[in-house]
Amino acid sequence: MDWKTIRKTAKPGEPAPNLIDYAAARASFSWEAARAELERLPGTGLNIAYEATDRHVYAGRGEIVALIWLGKNGERQTFTYAELARLSNRFANLLERLGIGKGDRVCALAGRIPELYATALGTLKAGAVFCPLFSAFGPEPVRIRLSKSQARVLVTTKALYERKVRHQRDDLPDLAQVLLTDGDGLVEPGVSSFHALLAEESDHRSPPRTLPEDMALLHFTSGTTGAPKGAIHVHDAVVAHRLTGRLALDLRPADIYWCTADPGWVTGVSYGIVAPLVNGATMVVDEAEFDARRWYAILEQERVNVWYTAPTAIRMLMKAGAEAARWHDLSALRFAASVGEPLNPEGVLWGRDVLSQPFHDTWWQTETGAIMIANYRSQAIRPGSMGQPLPGVEAAIIRRRPDGGIDRLSPGEEGELALRAGWPSMFRGYLNDEERYRRCFADGWYLSGDLATQDTDGYFWFVGRSDDVIKTSGHMVGPFEVENVLMEHLAVAEAGMIGKPDAFAGQIVKAFVALKPGYTASDALRKELLGFARTRLGPAVAPRELEFVADLPKTRSGKIMRRLLRARELGLPPGDLSTLENDETKED
Ligand code: ATP
Ligand code: MG
Repeated sequence: MDWKTIRKTAKPGEPAPNLIDYAAARASFSWEAARAELERLPGTGLNIAYEATDRHVYAGRGEIVALIWLGKNGERQTFTYAELARLSNRFANLLERLGIGKGDRVCALAGRIPELYATALGTLKAGAVFCPLFSAFGPEPVRIRLSKSQARVLVTTKALYERKVRHQRDDLPDLAQVLLTDGDGLVEPGVSSFHALLAEESDHRSPPRTLPEDMALLHFTSGTTGAPKGAIHVHDAVVAHRLTGRLALDLRPADIYWCTADPGWVTGVSYGIVAPLVNGATMVVDEAEFDARRWYAILEQERVNVWYTAPTAIRMLMKAGAEAARWHDLSALRFAASVGEPLNPEGVLWGRDVLSQPFHDTWWQTETGAIMIANYRSQAIRPGSMGQPLPGVEAAIIRRRPDGGIDRLSPGEEGELALRAGWPSMFRGYLNDEERYRRCFADGWYLSGDLATQDTDGYFWFVGRSDDVIKTSGHMVGPFEVENVLMEHLAVAEAGMIGKPDAFAGQIVKAFVALKPGYTASDALRKELLGFARTRLGPAVAPRELEFVADLPKTRSGKIMRRLLRARELGLPPGDLSTLENDETKED
């Protein structure tokens, strides 16, 4: 395999990485030891929100800022660990008074507002299950998720409630209470004011009584490959949140940390709430949507040290051009990482050249609950590689056998990425779909559904989702390598690849390309791009067809939906569209 490695250069005065010797950390690692660093509550209890808040308060760190909230209209509010502990106690007390307890689902449908954080943490303290819903979902995806999760309580805003929930309340018999963060007093039966009710509660609360295997979080997957699945996580996941925050994101107490993911998705909870708080960091939350200039200003003004973002945002920053980054002092930035989709080598190098920080790719899924494979600060980055497994995680490339077993493949061979089952943040089930859950496991391994290879040094390389990989003239082709090559061309902002049926080749590669500003689609450019790809990929793998599009279809979390490109091309039914970024149910 052909790769170049790059190394993040340390700036003067930077602290040493949390993970210095990768091999030694792997060799000596045990989850029991990682778990022992957490506070066990009476009766061997464990609680994510207690670890995230009260623990710091009892250790004398209550006055450290836990949350810097930046409102979309320029407001700036801060909350200390002690304040978050009190607010979440109040919310937990309120839930208890409403008769909500162990295992009950509490959903939140709101943008990135401070109440969301008190809701998430208070729900966990009450022993209930927090289930975030992305605020830009239309009424139908909201109803489906509220109904599937059997939500008892929903925290939302007045506008979102009126537009998306109120008219379907009769279809949601389990939903006993809706709490409006901007409503005054009692609004109507079954709808109350979040703040009015919270004001009646006490700041104090005895330590939570949850156990490590109690259900804590319910996350719906992104719906990139089909209908979203509800993945169940337990309190023990916090062991992995804490460890990955420290080792993969290099987080340390009092770091200024910004995770750009919305808490409507798993990244926005695992790394936008839990991991930074359990590691004692100060997290920045921006209520506004993406805007390149605003983002650079936040990095500069808040002096962000650690930044966790996604390829879709990186591509947008690249599209906005290096000029937008110029004149911003990003010297506080110590570590930048990415997750959610394959990170093209172009993106890694662009980070290094324009932000003076290469992006470190990390791989994980809703089902894994936490980062499983990462490029660590102390390790050489191989641009285009997802990195190496976390200490405590065993990853392998496997092939499923017809008898239900698996075979491990050798370095360089392409197969399914699998993880040895048993890490703390592994999902414990798909909601109402035990059969599907069982099918994810074989011989003690969790099978991810992603195809990858491993090189002889142990780095993993993403090939594509098993649904997206195609066979052309006997060759297996993954979207990632084709799209990476197209992305290298100066004119290309985004690329997506699908297989198109062909009488001779079985399938041929068809590429869809969105151009950067300043470039115009033309036959000449199409030919140039096809030639460009052909020289680099060879005729067997290079796209035969190329179509220009204004934008590629994406999920609301920003992932390219190749299944939709495929469906459009082939005139097939598109399948579940509830997570599509631009569908007609979106109302914001
Ligand atoms: P669904 O399961 O509903 O189709 P989804 O798989 O996109 O949606 P998530 O759990 O949010 O839902 O995303 C996990 C998937 O995202 C991974 O299985 C992988 O395909 C992709 N992914 C995440 N990080 C990376 C990465 N660093 N490189 C390549 N792919 C990644
Ligand atoms: Mg998935």
